[in-house]
Amino acid sequence: MGEFHEAIIVGGGPAGLTAGIYLMRAGVDTLLIEKMILGGAPVYTERIENYPGFPDSISGRELMSKFIAHAKAQGLVMKEFSEVEKIFLKGERFIIKAPDGQFESTGVIVTTGTEPAKMNVPGESRFLGMGVSYCATCDGAFFRDMDVAVIGGGDAAIEEGLSLANIVRKVYVIHRRDALRAQKILQDRAFRNRKMEFLWNKKPVEVGGKDQVEYIVVEDTKTGEHAKVEVSGMFVYIGSNPNTSFLGDLVERDDAGFVLTDDNLSTRTKGLFIAGDARKKALRQISTAVGDGALAATNLERYILEKR
Ligand code: NAP
Repeated sequence: MGEFHEAIIVGGGPAGLTAGIYLMRAGVDTLLIEKMILGGAPVYTERIENYPGFPDSISGRELMSKFIAHAKAQGLVMKEFSEVEKIFLKGERFIIKAPDGQFESTGVIVTTGTEPAKMNVPGESRFLGMGVSYCATCDGAFFRDMDVAVIGGGDAAIEEGLSLANIVRKVYVIHRRDALRAQKILQDRAFRNRKMEFLWNKKPVEVGGKDQVEYIVVEDTKTGEHAKVEVSGMFVYIGSNPNTSFLGDLVERDDAGFVLTDDNLSTRTKGLFIAGDARKKALRQISTAVGDGALAATNLERYILEKR
C-alpha cells in the first residue's frame, strides 16, 4: 500500500500549481509531485510580457515564485525531484510509482508539459553543454561577446534570440523557411535588432568543433547547397515533445504524442485529467495553462465528491 491522497498532481508548472491552489481551496487532500524544481518551463524564460497583471513584464522565475508561494499559502504539499515512472489503475484507485515510493489516489491531474525537441544531427549530443543548448536563459551568459545561432522561427526562437542579443556579439537565426512563425510583435523587434541576422531557407545538418562548438554546417532547403556558419553556440528552439509516455494506454494521443481530452479535460480514463502543454490544444501559454489547471481541478473535485 502506498501513501494515499484524494488527488495527486503530477507536474509543478503553471497548470499544476493552479490545480493545486483550486483543490486545496475546495478542501481536497492533494499532493503535487514534480520531477525537477517547481515552476515548470516559465522558470527558464527571461521575461514574460503577456501574462496579465504585470504591465512592466516580469521574469519567469519571479512569476513562478509567486505561484509557488500562493500554493504553499493554501497548504499544498509539494514534492520536488521525484519523477513519476508509471501510473496505473488498481480497482478504482490510481497507483502512482515514483523512485522514492508508491502513492495512491482517487484522481490524478497530469501537468507534465513538454521537453525541447532535438535536431538529431551529428554533433548535437556530443556538444551538449559545450556550445549546444536548449535554454538561452540558463546558458546565454557563457557566450558574452561571441557569435551564436538560434534554430527555429517560432515564438521561443525569436524571444530567446532577442534576449541572447543583449549578451552576445551576433545572433544568427537559422530558419528552414523564408517567413517566421513567431508573433508579429516579436518579429518586428527581431528585424529591428542590428545584432540579429537571418539565414533563411537553411537547416543545420551538422555541428562541429574541437572541444567546443566552432561551426554549424547548414543546408539550403531550396538548393541543397551546404555552407559553414562560424559560431560558438547553437540554441535549438524547434518545438517540443510532450512528456506523456509514463501514462501508457490510460490516455489517447495524437500523432505527436499530445493527449486528447474532452471539454472537461478528462481523458479516456475516469478520474484522470490532463492540463497544460501536454494536452492537444491550440494555444500553449501560461494563461491557458492556468485556465486548464483551474478547469481540471474543478472537474476532479466533482469526481472526488461523487466517490467520497
Ligand atoms: P513552434 O511554435 O512549434 O516553432 C518551432 C519552430 O521550429 C518553427 O519555426 C518550425 O519551422 C521550426 N522547426 C520545427 N522542426 C524543425 C526541424 N526539424 N528543423 C528545423 N526547424 C524546425 O515551437 P516554440 O517556438 O517552441 O513554441 C511552442 C509553443 O509555445 C507555441 O505555442 C508558442 O506560441 C508558445 N510560446 C509562446 C511564447 C510567447 O507567447 N511569448 C514564447 C515561447 C513559446 P516552421 O515554422 O517551418 O514549422
